Amino acid sequence: MIKCPICGSEYQDNAAFCTECGTKLNSEQPKTAPTGEYMHSTQQDTKPLSMWDFTLMELVARIPIVNLVLFFVWGFSKDTNENRRNWSRARLIWAAIGLVLSIVGIAAALVFGGVLATVTESIVSSF
Ligand SMILES: [Zn+2]
Repeated sequence: MIKCPICGSEYQDNAAFCTECGTKLNSEQPKTAPTGEYMHSTQQDTKPLSMWDFTLMELVARIPIVNLVLFFVWGFSKDTNENRRNWSRARLIWAAIGLVLSIVGIAAALVFGGVLATVTESIVSSF
């Protein structure tokens, strides 16, 4: 059920107009109005970042710890410029890939080092 916001008459959800006062009864209106406002206030910042924005971003991206914190803040904050948010998320993806690769690399080095040591030891002890 939807209620006419002007006269209070109740109608089915699919009613387009109030037959009492002629008010438009768009059932999506209560939803779209706040969403539109939300879009306006929090998702509107899609304008291109300036040269100095990028300069600053690339600077902070080179500061350990601080960069990760800012990538998380920018990547998941709703009122951050959309370009900066996407850039931050992309940086987080690369940070995650780098982390995985270094773990794999360390693990491989440990295994390979262990194998090498075992082989060397067996060769040495065979003489
Ligand atoms: Zn009405």
